[in-house]
Amino acid sequence: MNGPLRGTITRDRERLVLRIQAMQDFMRGFAELLSLCRDRAACVIFPTDLSGVAAIGYTGPMSGSPNICKVPASSPSAGCHCVSGIMNALVKFRPDIGKDYAMSTTRQPTAAEAALIGNLWGSDGTRMFKAVIYDVKFTCLHTESMHTADGLPILTEAGIAHMGQWEIRPDNELLEVFP
Ligand SMILES: [Zn+2]
Repeated sequence: MNGPLRGTITRDRERLVLRIQAMQDFMRGFAELLSLCRDRAACVIFPTDLSGVAAIGYTGPMSGSPNICKVPASSPSAGCHCVSGIMNALVKFRPDIGKDYAMSTTRQPTAAEAALIGNLWGSDGTRMFKAVIYDVKFTCLHTESMHTADGLPILTEAGIAHMGQWEIRPDNELLEVFP
């Protein structure tokens, strides 16, 4: 192993990686519940101390209505009325005062979703979210509006760490946002 962190990786950091990966696995379970909507986004919000789960969400229509996407997966255009898993998790999120949070998602956030994540502020005057971890680079097939723009530059601007699941390694210094 090379780099400035050589020799500084502890068993604690290796355990942290396993715990974050467990949260990713938990999130992937909800991805199995996704309907035929082409926006296949599941999301789990958890405190950065990994002491629990704060909210879950997956893409679908309004709760209480049939779990069917109005636009067939084969259609070339967007326009379904599904709410993304990230937005569904955020609307159910009831943060504990004084805690920092991280998000585990199937895909990276769109620009609008990233802005929502950045809009949550903690009582200490810093943004509530410290990290976003995603399974895949942007793969949604929707072609219009909210599903097109890449949210990672907005997360960077907000100072929120973001990483693909393949970057969850003991030598990744972004993991320092997890105490
Ligand atoms: Zn849909």
